[in-house]
Amino acid sequence: EGWRRWNRDLAPLYHEVGLLFLRRTPMRPGTLEQDSFDVLSRRGHPIEMLDAAAILKRFPAWSEAWTCGTFNPVGGFVESGKAIARLVEEARRAGVELVEGEFTGEVKADRIVLALGAWTPHVLPHLAGEFRSTGHPVFHLMPRDPAPFAAEKFPVFCADISSTGWYGFPVHPSTGVIKVARHGPGRPMHPESPDRAVTAEEIAELRAFLGETFPQLADAPLVSTRICLYCDSPDGHFWIARDPARPNVVVAAGDSGHAFKFAPILGELVADVTEGRSAEQRFRWRAGGPRGPWQEAARSTGTP
Ligand SMILES: Cc1cc2nc3c(=O)[nH]c(=O)nc-3n(C[C@H](O)[C@H](O)[C@H](O)COP(=O)(O)OP(=O)(O)OC[C@H]3O[C@@H](n4cnc5c(N)ncnc54)[C@H](O)[C@@H]3O)c2cc1C
Repeated sequence: EGWRRWNRDLAPLYHEVGLLFLRRTPMRPGTLEQDSFDVLSRRGHPIEMLDAAAILKRFPAWSEAWTCGTFNPVGGFVESGKAIARLVEEARRAGVELVEGEFTGEVKADRIVLALGAWTPHVLPHLAGEFRSTGHPVFHLMPRDPAPFAAEKFPVFCADISSTGWYGFPVHPSTGVIKVARHGPGRPMHPESPDRAVTAEEIAELRAFLGETFPQLADAPLVSTRICLYCDSPDGHFWIARDPARPNVVVAAGDSGHAFKFAPILGELVADVTEGRSAEQRFRWRAGGPRGPWQEAARSTGTP
């Protein structure tokens, strides 16, 4: 709903082309796909169950190995660069003073919000044990024939994401490239480290996935690669809370790789905490609290 609102109020940023979750092994309770289907159906979402014949007919770029899953027409992708540019414009228009690049001066303020993403555990040493910054490979491919990868036949997908980590997007409307990326354990790294580059091993894993999944993309030229930085929190939830030791400081972090899709609602959540209106319990300050293993339902552990 938030993205539809921004489409109306800001610019066409969100393309509601639908979302596929496919599997190679049967759907059953306890799998991300079946459990998500159950929750969304119960809440009245128009999500469909797919069998092998339906996948072959409607989404022919997928190999026959992918035999079941779901399609949710309420889903899609956002043009992130365009969204940021539009928000910067809007902020300036509202009178926000934006300082870009290195800033060495002193800032006096009643309230400070630190939204530092993957820099959080490095810039705020007292939170170094609460977050970890990880890097995840992202690939842009140029299909030789873009037609099979247009959004109508090739919507946003998650390919057994909780065990493989692979997800991706249809051909971009203006650049003609396809983005494929991996939501897995990633590699721990400082955001400015020289390790922030895709490795030959990660490219080989991409090629193996493409060969098994989208035969027509198996040897598609790779036009660019990058490392997507996450600020992981142990439970995969955001952390939007006042620092009890410095009550005029709010830390907004712990994106765990998911923050962009929530952009239209995050500002309000952060403003509510900053101005003391309300605070979401899940996103509370939890430094030093009890903690289970680092986890998140949709994230592959790298050991299928
Ligand atoms: C290639 C890529 C692909 C992604 N794909 C997806 C996706 O498909 N779906 C999704 O939901 N999310 C995706 N993400 C993740 C999403 O972009 C992040 O979850 C989101 O940007 C986190 O927002 P944030 O504001 O917490 O941190 P960031 O966007 O990382 O912002 C932190 C900012 O703090 C600044 N900063 C750091 N230190 C300082 C300092 N000392 N002083 C001042 N400023 C500082 C940094 O320069 C940066 O601009 C992707 C990210 C990347 C890089």
